Amino acid sequence: MSDGDTVGTDQIVVALDVGGTGMKCALVRPDGVAVRTERHPTDAARGPAAVVHTILDIAEGLADKARADGFAPIAIGIAVPGVVDEARGVAVWSANVGFRDVPLRDLAVRRLGLPAALGHDVRVGGLAEARLGAGRGTGNVLFVAIGTGIAAAHVVDGTAAAGAHGAAGEIGHILVRPDGPRCGCGRPGCLEAIASAAAIGRRYADLAGGTADAPVTAAEVAERAAAGEPLASQVWQEAVEALADGLATGQALFDVATIVLGGGLAQAGDRLLTPLRAALHERMTFHREPQLVAAALGDEAGCLGAALLALDAVGVRDHQEIR
Ligand SMILES: [Zn+2]
Repeated sequence: MSDGDTVGTDQIVVALDVGGTGMKCALVRPDGVAVRTERHPTDAARGPAAVVHTILDIAEGLADKARADGFAPIAIGIAVPGVVDEARGVAVWSANVGFRDVPLRDLAVRRLGLPAALGHDVRVGGLAEARLGAGRGTGNVLFVAIGTGIAAAHVVDGTAAAGAHGAAGEIGHILVRPDGPRCGCGRPGCLEAIASAAAIGRRYADLAGGTADAPVTAAEVAERAAAGEPLASQVWQEAVEALADGLATGQALFDVATIVLGGGLAQAGDRLLTPLRAALHERMTFHREPQLVAAALGDEAGCLGAALLALDAVGVRDHQEIR
């Protein structure tokens, strides 16, 4: 099929977003609307073979439910974290789920008898935000997910670039503070060692010393900063400045129209966006300043993006969709 083909009203794709703790699953129409959603535990401690088994069982179950409801499943899309070779359909490496060179796309094709696509969780999340969410209509989008870590997806005309090795978008490992704290990757001063939700909570606890009675989340740091607590304000501002440095580098590289902030930290809303817009504005010299907006699809972005990838794989693109 090609872009020009008519989209059948009964066509549906099976979509799964596999995370370290849970899987978000859905049946999605070509216009991006989910008609059925399910959540299942990943239970990664069982090992990668058991997780693969569960993924295929859930996908097959969803395809059966679709047929029972009068839909025609036409493809399956699966999103996984880590390093993903999208061209070969292989989950190359994942710390959270334990995948090592798992040919997930071919396994899905064999099990379901349908075309399948495998994508990276953040890249497909960016795809969904760019085509259906906060970046809709702007064409050139950098999606930045800030949670335990920080990762990005650069989406141009509805396609997220994967890089030569399936590892594009590791914006969390841009060096922003050469003398900064050590990152999980082993190097000091990476963006995510300062501005991830985990790093913000850690930094606050370190500076508070014995005075913090319990672990403080990044959301609480944001709240305390908004309430005028000096220590929280300092930690929050440090994170904002580091993020602005990282995003300015992103803008220098990609010159996007819109930066969409997702992940847990983006739920801080204007407490993040307002100071970050100001800090980013300061850093723009001759670069064009991007719009900075919060993600619109929440934690469904990955699942919807997996569905878009599946639709792309069979050449179905809804005519209503504005890119
Ligand atoms: Zn790093």
